[in-house]
Amino acid sequence: MTRRTFSVLSLLCAQGALVRRARAESSPSSLRGKLTTVGEQAGALTLPGGELVFLTGDEPTRGVLRDARLNGVDFEVIGRRLRPGWFEIEPIHKRAMFVHKDGKKLFVTYWCAVCAIRTYTPGICWCCQEETALDLRESLEISNS
Ligand SMILES: [Zn+2]
Repeated sequence: MTRRTFSVLSLLCAQGALVRRARAESSPSSLRGKLTTVGEQAGALTLPGGELVFLTGDEPTRGVLRDARLNGVDFEVIGRRLRPGWFEIEPIHKRAMFVHKDGKKLFVTYWCAVCAIRTYTPGICWCCQEETALDLRESLEISNS
């Protein structure tokens, strides 16, 4: 088992109760396309077939969808289709947003190098009040090296 597999499994294990509850409702699916960050309420994905799907989610999730640094990236989200043309992303703690880059699937995170604090939505570091940097990561291991 690779370290990466192990860390993913630990994450799934810790969130097992939540995952099981969500499955009871309806099982999440994934959607991948080109992200367009389009303002306050939602971003949108253009699917390979040309279909435009608007994205929504909780407030931290919508913060990521508003991040102009992600405009145009190859983006994948996990969640559920709502009414036609809309997709609701899983809550932020499920880590349901990914950027595909150079053949890798990367978690979207934000990092303050001064305080060594990682967050999952863009904004000001709660500690030093500096803007956090977009930091795409292959894994969410606790080590921040
Ligand atoms: Zn800081």
